[in-house]
Order: sequence, then C-alpha cells, then structure tokens
Amino acid sequence: MVDCILLGATLPGMTLGALLAREGWKVLLLERKRVAGGRAAPWKRDGYFSMPGIPRVRYGEKGPFYRICEQLGLKPLLVPLNQAWVLDTDQKVRRITIGRPGILRADFFSRWDGFFALRLLRTLKGETLEDMEEESLEEWFVRNTIRGSLQNYLKVLAYESTHCTAPEKISAGETLRCFQKAFRLRSYLAYPREGWIPILEHLEQEIVKNGEIRWQTRVERIEVEEGRVVGVRVAGETVKAPHVVCAMPCQQLVDLLPRGATTQEFVNVCGKAVPSTALIVDLALKNRIFHKKGLWFFMDPPSYGTFLSNLCHRHAPAGKQLATFVCPCSPEEVRQPELVRALEKKIEENLRRAIPRGEMAVEWKRSHVVRMLESIAIQSDQTRKDRLGYRVPNVDGLFLVGDSTCAPGASMEMEYESVLECFERMVTERNA
Ligand SMILES: Cc1cc2nc3c(=O)[nH]c(=O)nc-3n(C[C@H](O)[C@H](O)[C@H](O)COP(=O)(O)OP(=O)(O)OC[C@H]3O[C@@H](n4cnc5c(N)ncnc54)[C@H](O)[C@@H]3O)c2cc1C
Repeated sequence: MVDCILLGATLPGMTLGALLAREGWKVLLLERKRVAGGRAAPWKRDGYFSMPGIPRVRYGEKGPFYRICEQLGLKPLLVPLNQAWVLDTDQKVRRITIGRPGILRADFFSRWDGFFALRLLRTLKGETLEDMEEESLEEWFVRNTIRGSLQNYLKVLAYESTHCTAPEKISAGETLRCFQKAFRLRSYLAYPREGWIPILEHLEQEIVKNGEIRWQTRVERIEVEEGRVVGVRVAGETVKAPHVVCAMPCQQLVDLLPRGATTQEFVNVCGKAVPSTALIVDLALKNRIFHKKGLWFFMDPPSYGTFLSNLCHRHAPAGKQLATFVCPCSPEEVRQPELVRALEKKIEENLRRAIPRGEMAVEWKRSHVVRMLESIAIQSDQTRKDRLGYRVPNVDGLFLVGDSTCAPGASMEMEYESVLECFERMVTERNA
C-alpha cells in the first residue's frame, strides 16, 4: 500500500510529492492529463515554448520555492527581475526597482516620495499588517495621504501580486506584507535561467525513486470511512492510502468528496470562492528588440510583462523573442469579447511605444482569457482568514495544497508556503 496519494501534477503537488518521497514515503501521484503543470502546463508553437503567463519565483533564493529546492538537492540558477520599467500615464518610460538595489534607485518617483516609501515600509509591523487585511488599498491610501507617483508605484506592484486592478478590492495588509518582505529580503521576483522543464523533470525523478506517477488517470471520488480518508476511486476500483493530498483548486475538490463528509462551512467557502481572471497576450517576435532582463508595467490597461526569451533562451528560436503580458481583468470584463480585443490591441501598442527603437516584427500573437489564475483571488473580502486550511475538516488524513489555502503571501509564494506547511503537518502527524 502507498503512504500517500497526491491528486494533480501541479508544481505544488509535485514539490510536495518530491519532499515526501525524500522523507521515505511511498507516493502515488494521479493526474488526469498527460502533462505536468496543471493550469500552468507548458505550450509550444513554431519553435516558441513557454508556460502560460510568467511563472516567476517570488523572493528568489530567499523564498519558499527555493527553500524547497534546497531540501531536494536542487539549486536552479535564477535570473533576478528586480529591475522594472513603467510606461507611465504620460507615455514616458520610467525605471523602478523592487528589492535590490533599493527603492531610491528608481526614477519613477521624487526623492521625497522615495524617502516617504522607505519610512513607511520600515514602520509597518507584522501585527499592524494583520489588522489591515480587511482594509482596502484605497482606504489605506486615503488614511495615509498616499498620492501621486508613490500611489502609482504601489498600485502597479499590487496589480502584479494580486492580479486585481481595483484598489478598492485589494487587501492592504496582504499586499503591503509582500512589499515589506521584498524590502527586508532585498529580493523580489526571479525566473529560472533554464526554465521550468528541468525543474519539473527533477521533481518527477524524485517521486518515482520511491513511488509512481500515473498520467491520464482520473480520480472519480475520494473514499472516506468513519471520518478518515482511506483512498481514492479510480476506474471503479479503490486505491488505498492513509493520506490523500489534493493539489487542485478547491472548486474541483468538493466534487470529489462524498456528500456530508466534511463541514457545510468548508463546502460553502469552496462554492463561493471567486478566482482571479486575466487576459494573457503572447507576442512571438521575428527580431530581437529588447535585450534587458526585467519586468514591464503598463498603467493603461494595468498590465505587466516581460521578454521571457531574455530570461531563458529556450523560450524562442535563436534571433527571435517571446514577450508575454498579463492583464488582470474582472470576471465581467473577460466576458466582453470586444473589450478583450481592445485590451489586446492596447498592450501591443504600449509595447511599440515603450520600445520605439527598431521595427517590431510580430510573427504571430495569441491572446487567451484565463478564467482562473489564482483559484481564490487575493482580495479584502477573500483574505487569508477567509481561505481554507491545509486539512479538510472532519476527514482525517485528507490535506490540501495550492492557491486555495490560507498560506501567507501572493501568487507563487502561497503555493509553496502551503507545501512547506502541509509537509510539516504530515510528517509531524506520522511521527507522533
Ligand atoms: C495563466 C496562468 C498563469 C499562472 N501563473 C502563475 C504564477 O506566475 N505563479 C503562481 O504561483 N501561480 C500561477 N498560476 C497558478 C498555477 O497554475 C496554480 O497555482 C498551480 O498550477 C497549482 O494550482 P492548483 O493546485 O490549484 O491546480 P491546477 O493548476 O488547476 O491543477 C489541478 C490538476 O489536477 C488535475 N486534476 C483535476 N481533477 C482531477 C481528477 N479528478 N483526477 C486526477 N487529476 C485531476 C488537473 O488535470 C490538473 O493538472 C498561473 C495559472 C495560470 C492559469
């Protein structure tokens, strides 16, 4: 019998599987599709290749993903994305820095605003942030008279970390915690220099050393007996295990649970969870028009992006480039095809305006609406306190990892914080 069944070959699912396997657990990972990555599974087209969006590593070598890598004996080289440029509302390009070399090395805001930002970040304490979780960023701006370029700076960073562009909905506490951490660690975003595929392959190898991955295997139901998970049902048969971990959005997990197995409150949170949504625009370029490594932010429409092929050579054929932009939208916006087309057009125009040198030759472009970026959007009405724990209530042995959980932080941090928390709980419980 296996020690643990994992549902979903997502990055959080596979990292947890690899950690457990290293700890001597026999792991069985079941994945409905034939590829790893879940919602962020890789794509290929005409020699260009990527994962949807910009799967970045938050806090680089000081963040939870890297801590997990180190535990697994993996040390991927990271390209820091601390340097960034903003195409401002007056159509001028201004530089900002996030993490190293520090806030004051930017020309986005005045020196005074820079010093004010530094003072503000120094004075924010953990407990103050906790109290501010349900306060919106908009309310916080008013309360602290934050205006002008400093407000814009915090807004663009908040759009990137929460995938929400409405300051009246963004949680001030959760967002400021991210900036404060970046300030403290002097490190913010990074990207694996060799891309994600070698990392996924390493995780797969770790799992199969002492376990198995079954692709194209759909779990029909999670089996629960007398308040304890006993395994899962696959193709009409029960595969037994004393532990099951769901690495999938909470919206999908509920359908797999027997009726009445968990609390009504848990079912309600899963049912009411509102995901973040976005438009993703990929531009495959025939020529190389920009050589630096870093993020681009556009103020209108609020969006962020990067030249992925500058970060990892595998993303585009030699001499060509792949630029990817993420434009967070509301669920209402993504339902309007004309609006989506207008956003896509504006993003391309912004890029041409931002990098006017040389003619940008687009080989092809593709835009797609992502209806679920984070499975529970980080908003002031969906803060950590409103999200789910790492265990499914009333079902012993059933755990949850990923972006539906109450793990601290923003995207690409929450997932891995949840993995570390869940791993610790599972190991402690087994050793008790
Ligand atoms: C465009 C895009 C960009 C993103 N960028 C980032 C980013 O930069 N940073 C970040 O942290 N996160 C990002 N995410 C989110 C990231 O994809 C998810 O957080 C991550 O994949 C983990 O998600 P999840 O566990 O909720 O499950 P999902 O990604 O939804 O995956 C669930 C998996 O479970 C499998 N599955 C479902 N039901 C069954 C079943 N019954 N039996 C077997 N298998 C099943 C599915 O096939 C799937 O592989 C992005 C997502 C998208 C869509």
